[in-house]
Amino acid sequence: MSTATGKPATPASSALYGRAQRVIPGGVNSPVRAMRQIGRDPIFIASGAGAQVRDVDGNAYIDWVCSWGPLILGHGNPQVRHAINRAAALGSSFGAPTEGEVLLAEQVAERMPAVEMLRMTSSGTEASMSAIRLARAVTGRDKLLKFSGAYHGHVDGLLVQAGSGLATQGIPSSPGVPAAVAQATVTVPWNDADALDEALGAHEFAAVLVELVPANMGVVPAEPGYLARLGAAARRNGALLVADEVITGFRVAPGGAQELYGLAPDLTVLGKVIGGGLPAAAYGGRREHMRHVAPAGDVYQAGTLSGNPLAVAAGLATLEQLDHAAYRRLAELTERLAVGLREAAASAGRQMRVQSVTGLVTPFFTGAEVTDYAAAAACDQAAYAAFCRGLLARGVYPPPSQFEAWFLSLAHSERDIELTVEAAAEVLAELAA
Ligand SMILES: *Cc1c(COP(=O)(O)O)cnc(C)c1O
Repeated sequence: MSTATGKPATPASSALYGRAQRVIPGGVNSPVRAMRQIGRDPIFIASGAGAQVRDVDGNAYIDWVCSWGPLILGHGNPQVRHAINRAAALGSSFGAPTEGEVLLAEQVAERMPAVEMLRMTSSGTEASMSAIRLARAVTGRDKLLKFSGAYHGHVDGLLVQAGSGLATQGIPSSPGVPAAVAQATVTVPWNDADALDEALGAHEFAAVLVELVPANMGVVPAEPGYLARLGAAARRNGALLVADEVITGFRVAPGGAQELYGLAPDLTVLGKVIGGGLPAAAYGGRREHMRHVAPAGDVYQAGTLSGNPLAVAAGLATLEQLDHAAYRRLAELTERLAVGLREAAASAGRQMRVQSVTGLVTPFFTGAEVTDYAAAAACDQAAYAAFCRGLLARGVYPPPSQFEAWFLSLAHSERDIELTVEAAAEVLAELAA
């Protein structure tokens, strides 16, 4: 962003970015924050309140990232803050069990009947890594099946991409991932029933990993019947069905996407909302599987800060506010944003496909339906990048990548949506010109 005088509109951000690049790889602690995919420098944030964030230069933005999902109640929710403060006053960490962990586990089990027991971790990556270890221990098998474009954290064996062909043996998508590890993962295109059958017919899997609503290639919901077919096929194969609900858990419905689609996964991976903005995640499932986790069983997994009292307090205070009315409201806001973006595109004569599930929206720059990663990758990335730059210049902060979801919160208002849609219409008209 530059002004007419050539000075950046974010001088404090630029200065920090300069310093950051010297001491932090790429200047950021997680790659997407660098905003390289939309061709600009990152914005350093100073504060957030409700649906708004403010950068270190004092610019305000309507925030559609919401920390990539955890902040379903927006920034600085009063009850969450109160719960964190109360917990902090009692001590930040003990490395011993606390009451809060029991309350949170009970709360999750009540919302998700398929999660009879759960073990907490500090990140979604750690939770999915641990779920895989458990699935391998329970089945005595090594192979994993995942879908291309799905993300389950930066676990070695899941950083793989499909090559050509329908069902492809994994090739590492990052240096540093041993070929032998990647080869244990088979990747198939999402929403492709034949490729799924072929892969399940050819291998014995420990786990079939699935984002029940894929949201890391943009929002690409399953086609009708696909998830039921997937669940049945995994069972026939003898694999555990591992539902990654790190994004969808407690976002799309009180009991997550498994409630929405009527599925009972063998294992479930949770994160983001469960920590209410603090580092917490979990994996859980049927008692017959979870009883293998140490010290109940012999599958080792541990964590110094697992079940951290502050994170647990924030998670509980978040879940407490997520009743049926909250999900109705979130669904309403989601629909309003999706419809608004569609109308903005139509008025600008721009082809845009807006896909959404409660709490999640992705505007894809394409005229066609997006049903898998290949279709998402074929979208006009340059147009999305220009769209994002234009929105940022107008005080709207979208996820800076075509392959991410816009995250709604209950702190967003109709007015926030109206302002966002107005800004979108302006930017799209400019792009079309
Ligand atoms: C964010 C995410 C993860 C990883 O969670 P981290 O806490 O970032 O490690 C795993 N799965 C899905 C679907 C995610 O969106």
